Amino acid sequence: MSRSDRGLHRPCYHLRAMAQLPVLPFLRKQVPHMLETLRELTVRESPSLEKEPTDRCGEFLADLWLRRGATVGIVKNEKRGNHVRVVWNPPGAPPKGQLFVLGHYDTVYPSGTLAKMPFKVEGGKAYGPGTFDMKGGIVQALFALDAIREEKLNPQKRIVFLWTSDEEIGSGTSRGLIEDEARRSEAVFVLEPSLGPRGALKTSRKGVGEAQLIVHGRASHAGLAPEKGINAIHELAAQIARIEKWNNLRRGVSINADVVSGGSRTNVIADRAEAALDLRAWSEADMRALEKRLYALKPARRGAKLEIRGGFDRPPLERKHSAALFARAKSIARTLGFSLGEAAAGGGSDGNFTAALGVPTLDGLGAVGDGAHAKHEHVLVDAMPQRAALLAHLLVAY
Ligand SMILES: [Zn+2]
Repeated sequence: MSRSDRGLHRPCYHLRAMAQLPVLPFLRKQVPHMLETLRELTVRESPSLEKEPTDRCGEFLADLWLRRGATVGIVKNEKRGNHVRVVWNPPGAPPKGQLFVLGHYDTVYPSGTLAKMPFKVEGGKAYGPGTFDMKGGIVQALFALDAIREEKLNPQKRIVFLWTSDEEIGSGTSRGLIEDEARRSEAVFVLEPSLGPRGALKTSRKGVGEAQLIVHGRASHAGLAPEKGINAIHELAAQIARIEKWNNLRRGVSINADVVSGGSRTNVIADRAEAALDLRAWSEADMRALEKRLYALKPARRGAKLEIRGGFDRPPLERKHSAALFARAKSIARTLGFSLGEAAAGGGSDGNFTAALGVPTLDGLGAVGDGAHAKHEHVLVDAMPQRAALLAHLLVAY
């Protein structure tokens, strides 16, 4: 029996008891505080590429958890913002294992974005850079812990919250931390935004990668000695036409040349050209097959040389690692009075890393809203207490 199966068989009596617990009424009363906390987090801009402002936001974030009596460690990071690791041990008996709540506090917006895109609450929506992806989720987690403490729900497990600073740029400095924590945990709850207006959870995500296809040709005068040249751009075009045929959208396998460059001027036959490729697939097997094909490419022109770099760097989050947790979340949602759907996402998250280790992972548990990375980014205020309650119950019932 897998760890996730074992979890699924326990909760019935918990769920019955849950309906009587006042978690949701408590959280609904917290909405003004939740919004104020979201405002405080949003006005502290935290662009992945700017260490200083991001560290200031991280300090503020650390302090929020310290004030709740959690143990907080700042994981120093030389180039990017520091990561914030929070440990909360249930009072009383020593914890029976560990649960992992995972999210990132960096955003894709450079400093100064706030001036054009200020934090505001309007028509039941809270707008601002990073509100949906994913500061709203962090706020929900914070208040889920408040609800757990206020209602003395006594979780059985230690809860580790990790707020990282570089998810939007590939998690280069946090991946090791995330994987170490996941290995110590029985389940991972990822607070990335949910999907669509009804806030579906993400039970599968594609594996994602990036590769470079570089062509080395030979330069020559296009007028005086065209026969001596090997046109790297023509060769690249031929290779792109070849790989385009590998796309299998029904199966979810995609390979796209999204940036190309090459050549120097019109009378010189190009000696170099390159393409940056975006790679995606639903399964580990499809991922490896695509990489294999890519690395086996042969030049179409005599004398041209191909150089291939990179490949998949985020494994897929396969549904088998999230199905049991999702079933549990769905029943909890029902007792809380709403129905919960699931969705598959073509983009990756840090949940891909934890699921790939075989640790049950449920993603999309963060805010309900829209406009991630866009001007109209916002969260639905009404859904905040509801989603915080869902997380609180998931943590307590495990
Ligand atoms: Zn995100």
